[in-house]
Amino acid sequence: MRIAIVGAGLAGVCTAYELAAAGHAVTVFERRASVAEEASFAPSGLLAPALALPGLLPARNLGTLRWRWSRRQARRSPAQAAREAQALQLARLGHQRLQALRRALPLDDEAADGVLMLLREAKHLAALQPRLDVLAAAGLAVQVIDAAACRQREPGLNAEAPLHGGLVLGPGSVGNGRLFAQQLRAQAQRLGAAFRFHSLVTGLRAESRSVLLSHEPTSAGPAATRREAGDTQPQALCPQTESFDSVVLCAAQGALPLLQAAGQAPPFASTSDATLTLPLRVLEAHPELGPQAGMLDAREGIAIARIGQRVRVTGPVEAADHAHLHKALQHWLPGCVQQGQMQASTRQRLLMPDGLPVVGASALPGVWLLLGQGGEAGQGWSLACGAARVLADCLAGLTPELDISALSAARS
Ligand SMILES: Cc1cc2nc3c(=O)[nH]c(=O)nc-3n(C[C@H](O)[C@H](O)[C@H](O)COP(=O)(O)OP(=O)(O)OC[C@H]3O[C@@H](n4cnc5c(N)ncnc54)[C@H](O)[C@@H]3O)c2cc1C
Repeated sequence: MRIAIVGAGLAGVCTAYELAAAGHAVTVFERRASVAEEASFAPSGLLAPALALPGLLPARNLGTLRWRWSRRQARRSPAQAAREAQALQLARLGHQRLQALRRALPLDDEAADGVLMLLREAKHLAALQPRLDVLAAAGLAVQVIDAAACRQREPGLNAEAPLHGGLVLGPGSVGNGRLFAQQLRAQAQRLGAAFRFHSLVTGLRAESRSVLLSHEPTSAGPAATRREAGDTQPQALCPQTESFDSVVLCAAQGALPLLQAAGQAPPFASTSDATLTLPLRVLEAHPELGPQAGMLDAREGIAIARIGQRVRVTGPVEAADHAHLHKALQHWLPGCVQQGQMQASTRQRLLMPDGLPVVGASALPGVWLLLGQGGEAGQGWSLACGAARVLADCLAGLTPELDISALSAARS
C-alpha cells in the first residue's frame, strides 16, 4: 500500500518504521526541517507504562470551564475503566516494542533503567491507592518502597528532603526521545520510507478507494528558497495533491485544522510543558551526584531524568524563568548540575478530557489517527511505539494484537 504519514515527531517516526517494516511504501510529510522538532524535541524521557494511567499526577488547570466539566464527566463515566485498561495495554506493548527496537536495531538513546515516583508524605500514597489498584488489575507491578530504599536506588537524593517513600514503576526506563527518533528515522529510511521535510499538509479528501493529500512547501523550505531566487520549476514550487491508499495523522496540534475541515473535531485541550537540560556535575569523589535514572515528584508533577551525562527537568510552565523547575532540582538533588550551558524549551501537548490517547480510524475513510498521546504524565513516546504496531496491523486489514476500539476519536 502507498501510505502517507503527516508529522515526523515520535508518533510519526514510530509509525513510519512499523509500516515500512511491514512492506508498505511510506512517505512522511513534515513541515519542519527534521524529525522531533516539536513535542518530541525534549520529552522528560520517562518510559513507564503505568504513567499512561490518568490521575497519578495532580490535574492541571487547563482548557475552558466547559472542557474541565467534560474532564470530570469523562473520568466518572462507566466507559472510563475500559478506556484506561486499553491504554495501559497499549503502553505496555509500546514499552516492550521500544526495548525490542533498542536491542535489535540497535538504537542507543542514552537509556537507563528505573522510574521512581517520590512521595513526600504518607497522605500522597493514600490518595494514590485507588489508582494503584487499577494498575495492579492491569498487571503492572508497582512496588511501594520506604524512604531508605528510595535513597538506596537514588543515592544522590537530598538527605534533608522530607520523603515518606516511593513507587517503583515497573517496567521503567529513561532515554533521549529526540535521539531515538533520529535513529529510528534512519532505520525507516533504510527500509524505504521517504521523508519530505518543509512540507506542510494543507488538506485531506477521501475518494472512493484513496485519500487525496494536498501539501505545499513551507516558507523555510528549499523549494521556497528557489522560488525567491526566481526558479520557476513548477513541480517543486507549487502546492501539490497526491493520492495515497491511506493516511496516518501524527501531527499533534497540526492535525486539528485538517480534522476540522473534514468535519471531525476531537475535544482536545493543550497543555504547555517546560524542559530544562543541564550538564551533570561529574565529581570523582561524589559518583552518586544526580539521578541514576528517572524520578517524578508526585506532588508537583515534575520529572527529573538522567539523559546520558545531562540532567533533564520537566514540568508545567509556571514562569518565564522556570524557577519552580530549578527549585525542584535543588530540593531533590542539590548541586548536581553545572548552571552554564542550560538548554530550555517549552512545548505543547494535546490532552483529551479522559486523559487518554486517540488511536484508530477517523471519520474520514482511509485516514487514521495517532494523537494526544501525551496524557497527563506525558507517556506519548511509549504509547507511540505500541500504537504504531497496532495501526500497522489495522491498515493491513489484520486483527491487531490489542483491542483499541475504546480509544477511537468517536468515543463519547
Ligand atoms: C515537555 C514534554 C515532556 C514529555 N515527557 C514524556 C515522557 O517522559 N515520556 C513519554 O513517553 N512521553 C513524554 N512526552 C510526550 C511525548 O514526547 C509526546 O507524546 C510525543 O513527543 C508526541 O509526539 P507526536 O509525534 O505526537 O507530536 P510532535 O512531536 O509534536 O510531532 C508532530 C509533528 O507534526 C508536524 N506537523 C503538524 N502539522 C503538520 C502539517 N499540517 N503538515 C506537516 N507536518 C505537520 C509538526 O511539525 C511536528 O513535527 C512529553 C512531551 C513533552 C512536550
